[in-house]
Amino acid sequence: MRKEQYDFPLDDFISVEDFGRIKEFSKDKETPFLIVDLAKVEKMYDALVKNMPFVKIYYAIKANPLDEVILTLKEKGSNFDAATTYEIDQLLRLGVPPEKISYGNTIKKEKDIAYAYEKGVRLFVTDSESDLMKIARRAPGSRVFFRLLTESDGADWPLSRKFGAHPDITYEMILQARKLGLEPYGLSFHVGSQQRDIGQWDNALSKCKYLFEAVALQGIKLKMINLGGGFPAKYLSPANELETYAHEILRFIQEDFGEEHPEIIIEPGRSLTADAGIIVTEVIMISKKAKLNQYKWVYLDIGKFGGLIETLDECIKYPIYSEKEGYEEEVILAGPTCDSMDILYEDHKYVFPNTLKEGERLYILTTGAYTQSYSSVAFNGIPPLKAYVI
Ligand SMILES: *Cc1c(COP(=O)(O)O)cnc(C)c1O
Repeated sequence: MRKEQYDFPLDDFISVEDFGRIKEFSKDKETPFLIVDLAKVEKMYDALVKNMPFVKIYYAIKANPLDEVILTLKEKGSNFDAATTYEIDQLLRLGVPPEKISYGNTIKKEKDIAYAYEKGVRLFVTDSESDLMKIARRAPGSRVFFRLLTESDGADWPLSRKFGAHPDITYEMILQARKLGLEPYGLSFHVGSQQRDIGQWDNALSKCKYLFEAVALQGIKLKMINLGGGFPAKYLSPANELETYAHEILRFIQEDFGEEHPEIIIEPGRSLTADAGIIVTEVIMISKKAKLNQYKWVYLDIGKFGGLIETLDECIKYPIYSEKEGYEEEVILAGPTCDSMDILYEDHKYVFPNTLKEGERLYILTTGAYTQSYSSVAFNGIPPLKAYVI
């Protein structure tokens, strides 16, 4: 087999200058840690506004709940999608007014609905009769939007089955909401995170159109469609550019609703923060399991429990960069903990220079979303992932 020189396309993921800054900043710090570049978060937000001027943005804060990230987006004028009273409290503490918060989790305790209402939140999602009754009791008169069930085909990190209701149930709930004194405001869906098939928005929008028309016959005029998240970040598996998403989605909306379309909301999480983060990690050990085994194992000081849970089933394939030169060598990558599920990539073989040594650093790119907040408290005594912002 001919050996190729290791040649990682770093500038597909980050500019050489940005990488230089991050490297300089990280020099003396002990790994593992995450660095989030706030200027990049702003850039992603601006790109979204530019490409989708027709939407109102609700940042899904679970993707990266660092105070600095939220404050950066607040300054930009973003609204926020919160999933719990803890997230609502954090937003209020950071000075986000309750009118800019949507309670976007369909799974809510009645007392939490009451709490949000008391704090001034007036926009709630729902997908079940039981939850709708709770909202009617504890958040009277609020706006509610109804989450539709979608398939997550084409998404690298699915968010289906657990959330949303079929249009048949949703239709009944919309009528019921009016009877209960709530304002049936609109519909929502989430096509799955890192959704690489843009056509999924088309499928979901046609369900919306059907329901808009069905309830209009009963005298209810819905005003809003929430397109959820699912917009892309730059991982190894290629996705279309944001411009393409924006262009196609607007075309779908206009096909179904014409130029005078309803208010459109999106709830981006990953696409606003993922590309702004880099995890710096160190190789703890390189080993071989048997004389004739083809692949070496490379153990890092971060793994599934340290913030890389989206490597589950190798769903998300982070670009990982070594600065060394050498011939390409395929390896199996694993984390540091005493749990055998803490293997990052075994099926998909990552390629590093054959000169890679223990104690050297690797840079895990596109890790600004769904990493730090997922890291465990103290599994094997390892503290949660540190994060720095620059
Ligand atoms: C997680 C979540 C999002 C964010 O999705 P991304 O794919 O990360 O953009 C949006 N809306 C809801 C309701 C979510 O739960």
